[in-house]
Amino acid sequence: MDGMSASNDPTAWKPASLRNKLFIGGEWVDGIGGGTIDVINPHDGSVITAIAEATSADVDRAVEAAQKAFPAWSSMAAMDRGRLLLKLADRIEEEQAELGRLEALNTGHPFRDTQILDVPRTAVTYRYFGGMADKFEGSVIPVEAGFLNYLAREPVGVVGQIVPWNFPLMFTSWKMAPALAAGNCIVIKPSEITPLSTLRIAELMQEVGIPDGVVNVVPGYGHTAGARISEHPNIAKVAFTGSTATGRTVVKASAGNLKKLQLELGGKGANIVFEDATIPAAVGGSAFAIWHNQGQACIAGSRLMLHESIADAFMEKFIGLTESIRLGNPLDPATEMGPLTSKMHQQRVLDYCEVAREEGGDIVTGGAAPNDPALAAGCYVRPTIVRAKPADRVCQEEVFGPFVSVMTFKDDAEALEIANGTEYGLGSGLWTADLKRAHKLAGALHAGMVWINSYKRVNPGSPFGGVGQSGYGREMGFEAMREYTHPKSVWVNVDAQIPPYYPR
Ligand code: NAD
Repeated sequence: MDGMSASNDPTAWKPASLRNKLFIGGEWVDGIGGGTIDVINPHDGSVITAIAEATSADVDRAVEAAQKAFPAWSSMAAMDRGRLLLKLADRIEEEQAELGRLEALNTGHPFRDTQILDVPRTAVTYRYFGGMADKFEGSVIPVEAGFLNYLAREPVGVVGQIVPWNFPLMFTSWKMAPALAAGNCIVIKPSEITPLSTLRIAELMQEVGIPDGVVNVVPGYGHTAGARISEHPNIAKVAFTGSTATGRTVVKASAGNLKKLQLELGGKGANIVFEDATIPAAVGGSAFAIWHNQGQACIAGSRLMLHESIADAFMEKFIGLTESIRLGNPLDPATEMGPLTSKMHQQRVLDYCEVAREEGGDIVTGGAAPNDPALAAGCYVRPTIVRAKPADRVCQEEVFGPFVSVMTFKDDAEALEIANGTEYGLGSGLWTADLKRAHKLAGALHAGMVWINSYKRVNPGSPFGGVGQSGYGREMGFEAMREYTHPKSVWVNVDAQIPPYYPR
């Protein structure tokens, strides 16, 4: 399936076919309300397609379909569930170029990245959890003599999953793969802005034989479909990725049936460069930390902290690299930075440039949309570097765009104080040649993830998540399997001599 034009112009690519309905119980259906949502190409504002809009009533029927599928799916041999996920991983790899282009078209994330990062990472996530399905074991606990006590891991039931727009392909795999491996059925709501890759994955899931009703996709707005998932009495768990503010709403809505929750929320990653760091590696790594996906990453290194002795030398190189980044159509393989994912978000990032100016920040480069007329209709923002103070709003609030706030520090204690000085605690990084310092700081950083002499590494085996206002619970690895199961303790009286409690 490749819709490349006869001219072979990569930017003329169009998907050969697109799924644009809800996926419920194995059927592609319209929403009960009959509404649609336009899906916009962030490069030029054109409408890619209109998708059927899921509302509360559609979530209800998706939950019913998932409940119906649950007994057979949860009792299927774990190895067989795993085999289906392994097949899916293979199919995703076969579709690497097409999926990479689809994700680039819908999100604005450059094809260069979606093809080498998002799609392969999505495939390996399904493969990892496909392999995990029959290796996630319970345990036997040494209790009193005469008893056998074992711990079994049971799927929680129907799980609701709510996903944002920044990495839809990858994030849906982080959520769906462990949930399915553990035997749960799913009602997933992609962002209304970026539903296309999730719908394509659902199509591939059906093709490889994942039974109808096991996965149901309900693209719709947060305040309707998302809210219904959060409150639904028959959804046992919600896994949410999104902003801290919406996360709080989900927590409140989930109280009715005391859902199990997993929250992956905002971040304000501290990326600390010490005086003994290898500067070229730190410059390159810090650029990836913030500019990758236009900075629209919860783990972005959005606070760049430089030791005062190397700050000028570092900044010269960092600014030079930043100003050389090629902005353009995300489908063009030469593009290194695409548009932000929506007009609303572009405006939000530009508003933060104003905030920086108002609070006396020094905008070293960027701070505006590009002048290029070819990009004028898109949601572009030039990569923006601001020198600011730790208490400034631009150093405390998540901008979630190509916007980095730079601060300096004089010693390790001050670096730690600034790094831990926000309400968030998701990703963080440090660059140093001193291993003792590196490990000491890794222990002291208030964060769910720390990268030493690198930044933004992810792997399906390594737990991903935050502390503080960045949420709780973990994706990936054995931790994710624990999140998607209940431990059940079973006591067996094998040969216990229990004196009568009420001797008669
Ligand atoms: P958002 O909170 O606005 O939306 C996230 C999802 O929640 C969307 O699907 C949206 O439709 C839905 N939603 C909105 N209102 C809802 C409601 N009342 N009830 C239930 N669902 C609702 O976030 P966003 O703007 O789409 O994404 C950006 C945010 O996501 C940033 O804050 C970013 O840091 C965060 N994020 C966190 C992680 C992580 O792993 N910690 C990863 C990526 C993004």
